[in-house]
Amino acid sequence: MLMTTKPMFDLAYGGGFGIGAFNVNNMEITQAIIEACAAEKSPCILQVSKGARKYANMRYLKAMIDAAVAENPGIPIAIHLDHGDTVDLVKTCINDGFTSVMLDGSHQPYEENVKVSAEAVKVAHAAGVVVEAELGMLGGIEEDVVGKNAEDYAKNLEKFLTDPKQAADFWKRTGIDSLAVAIGTSHGAFKFKDEAKLAFNRVEEIMKTCPGLPLVMHGSSSVPQEFINLVNKYGGNMPNAKGVPEDQIAMAVRKYGVCKVNIDTDLRLAMTAKIREVFATKPAEFDPRNYLGPARSAITEMVKRKLHMLNSAGKSEAVIKQWQKLGQPMPSYYKKTAA
Ligand SMILES: [Zn+2]
Repeated sequence: MLMTTKPMFDLAYGGGFGIGAFNVNNMEITQAIIEACAAEKSPCILQVSKGARKYANMRYLKAMIDAAVAENPGIPIAIHLDHGDTVDLVKTCINDGFTSVMLDGSHQPYEENVKVSAEAVKVAHAAGVVVEAELGMLGGIEEDVVGKNAEDYAKNLEKFLTDPKQAADFWKRTGIDSLAVAIGTSHGAFKFKDEAKLAFNRVEEIMKTCPGLPLVMHGSSSVPQEFINLVNKYGGNMPNAKGVPEDQIAMAVRKYGVCKVNIDTDLRLAMTAKIREVFATKPAEFDPRNYLGPARSAITEMVKRKLHMLNSAGKSEAVIKQWQKLGQPMPSYYKKTAA
């Protein structure tokens, strides 16, 4: 069931769980995520990045997401633009049927970030679409979103974290629906040199200055060592890959106002490890179904593991009820198509 993230975050904030936001790039990944959510009765956010639009073509992605929604009427699903960089892209996505968009102006000077985020909110809210913005600086690299390198990031962490007072000012002046915060997470598979530690005190401070504002954690893959070992065992080369420990993410969604957790790297890792294993153990195999199929199953298992970590398993029905209680709000795109 398609919806915005509003009914999801209404329940997740203070409800002891978080919504997983998973990036879709092709059919197998889309199917794997939805299959896991259906099995676990969990709501989810399917995110499309600018890179995914370029790689797969939005028409194909949209058709796959529509199929996933139609096949799973009991699963609350939001379609979200990940790291939108211009208001024009936000408009395009609203016209493509997204229910949620991100405008990431965090790499621009503060006043510029306020300006573009407020503009995105104006455009999106007029169409019934919700907006996520970002404040602070993450480490690592994600497609064309380049943060700080691990060493520099760890050394100057305080400087890059989201400023709680600024967050309050930002919320007031933009009217955003959720805020991606820098609290020590990082994009990619090589997040940290040492053990990662999230700045929970910073999250508490932001919750005090911005009471009720759903917070978003980007770069929240945990890069499980057993998958790195598999990749390396079957011919890969990913030394020193490190992520955010799962118990820290579990704590962030259970105890704090973190409502959305972005996970992409771990799905890629599961997929890559499985494909490498098939290639290494069955060198004669050349039917794509026989390596993409097992890869899809590996992603499903990874997503299930994440849904339990986020404590969102079993929450579908409650989210649908909340959506109904809100009067079943839908972006104008869907009202138009239904008419
Ligand atoms: Zn991100």
